[in-house]
Amino acid sequence: MTQEELFKKLIAHSKEYGFIFPSSEIYDGLSAVYDYGQMGVELKNNIKRYWWDSMVKLHPNIVGIDAAIFMHPRTWEASGHVGAFNDPLIDNKDSKKRYRADVLIEEHLAKLDEKIEKEVAKARKRFGDSFDEKQYRATSPRVAEIAAKRDEVHSRMVKALNDSDLEELRQIIVDAEVVCPISGTRNWTEVRQFNLMFDTKIGSVAEGANTIYLRPETAQGIFVNFLNVQKTGRMKIPFGIAQIGKAFRNEIVARQFIFRMREFEQMEMQFFVRPGEEIKWYDHWKELRMKWHRALGFGDEKYRFHDHDKLAHYANAAADIEFNFPFGFKEVEGIHSRTDFDLGNHQKFSGKKIQYFDPETGESYVPYVVETSIGVDRMVLQVLSAAYTEEKLDSGEERTVLRIPPAIAPVKAAILPLVKKDGLPEIARQIVSALKYDHIVQYDEKDSIGKRYRRQDAIGSPLCITVDHETVTDNTVTVRYRDSMEQQRIPVSEIPAVVAETVSMKKLFAELEA
Ligand code: ATP
Repeated sequence: MTQEELFKKLIAHSKEYGFIFPSSEIYDGLSAVYDYGQMGVELKNNIKRYWWDSMVKLHPNIVGIDAAIFMHPRTWEASGHVGAFNDPLIDNKDSKKRYRADVLIEEHLAKLDEKIEKEVAKARKRFGDSFDEKQYRATSPRVAEIAAKRDEVHSRMVKALNDSDLEELRQIIVDAEVVCPISGTRNWTEVRQFNLMFDTKIGSVAEGANTIYLRPETAQGIFVNFLNVQKTGRMKIPFGIAQIGKAFRNEIVARQFIFRMREFEQMEMQFFVRPGEEIKWYDHWKELRMKWHRALGFGDEKYRFHDHDKLAHYANAAADIEFNFPFGFKEVEGIHSRTDFDLGNHQKFSGKKIQYFDPETGESYVPYVVETSIGVDRMVLQVLSAAYTEEKLDSGEERTVLRIPPAIAPVKAAILPLVKKDGLPEIARQIVSALKYDHIVQYDEKDSIGKRYRRQDAIGSPLCITVDHETVTDNTVTVRYRDSMEQQRIPVSEIPAVVAETVSMKKLFAELEA
């Protein structure tokens, strides 16, 4: 199965099993907006819980807030979003499709990288066991030629982005002979800047400044509350403020399912530190955030860091954590050293002093900030794409299973009476009652037991508990484990402990602290 096929199947599976639906689908949907269904919302809530607890529960010096989506419009002048939250866009005149100029160039770079890999693969085949990959990469003239081309395009792009040189961005696309994937032509417009913020009106239209924005990031709600939290919580630097909430961006290129949406959710933590100590903390959070991803057990090779070529206007260091999605390595999380840009600017724009008196040094200063910012929806996509597996069983049958880490699986256990009579449903319902205060569980009595197992595999339930005639006589049940499909006989009295142990988040947290 190609990655493209996998991705298509994943989208279809997400819909079929109640994870993700196109928004307002009966009206043919709304571009780049999605709704979470009955399974999707559980998965999403569990991901949020994993993040929230790893921040707020595990760190005594991190607290949470929940700020409003609407903020005073001056906020977005201070943050730089009114002036600089732009994407460079370019249209193809034939297909009338709009693209982000930087994304077109990045895709071209990825193609050149692919070409190099193909050359290496060809040589590996040709030379067999005696192949020395390192030497080949260093000495092959063909590889050197492609790499030089790649590096040239790359450095031109970095410079053009840093200088906001729109003409040069267009020239790079022209020189690299990038074609529109739809029309196949090179008939490009000029590159223009496009502000990504949605605006709307507040209050009566007769009043003056009534345009407000839907927040494009949750971070600013934290910055404007810095003093409120620091003072009322008696927080001492270094400390962090965490928040989960919706953000809105009028994305130009809205593709790849829930990867890039116009309404999405972020989990952000701003960590306030002494000036001069930010890079130490930036390194610390980079490492810790990578551990958080890896603890999910999808394989370390699925992740990599990507240091930013172009630093945002507020940052002095920035890196992304990228995940290998079916469409390649892409950003799921950003870690940014934001300096004192945000607090400093809010101080300037609001006229209110935003400073911290450090009792240890006896000095007052505007704290520096290290941010970790992750998209909930991209995490959902990460989990679904890593978990989706089609398997051929020894019996010759096939099954589709979502190998979602048990701690974040939507349904933790399914309770299944083997038949709908002989008192088995009653026992099964008693087990449901015993578990429901602690876990989301499902009761299912319809169809053969094999079919019921497949349904639970397809939504990623880690455990199936089957009540059969033996249960009536000896009070034991069969527990079936999703991944191994192993079955085990256990006493009914042990069910709560087995479920709790299997789905506990403690194991994930222990890895973060290892
Ligand atoms: P990209 O380069 O992909 O547009 P970004 O660098 O603008 O992303 P940030 O501003 O750093 O993203 O936002 C932090 C996180 O928010 C991202 O790592 C991503 O997980 C998430 N995010 C940003 N934009 C979107 C979007 N349109 N849809 C879904 N998630 C998003």
